[in-house]
Amino acid sequence: MALTVCPECDGKVSDKAFACPACGYPLGQQTGGSAWPAVLGGVAGTYISAQALVTIIVGSIMFIAFAAIMIVAVLSS
Ligand SMILES: [Zn+2]
Repeated sequence: MALTVCPECDGKVSDKAFACPACGYPLGQQTGGSAWPAVLGGVAGTYISAQALVTIIVGSIMFIAFAAIMIVAVLSS
């Protein structure tokens, strides 16, 4: 395993890495062929969407849980 330097942040990155672990800069285009940058872009986009989705889901669960607690409190009184 050899180390190379990230052109984006000058951090040390494995030449086997698909992207820089520090800044996410996509690497390995030379060895991986032309498909990898597109795949990485898709994965990055999915990851960001997933993060937003998780935030929305967690927010909804918190709201539903709060509503349920309020309903139970009203019904039991
Ligand atoms: Zn980097």
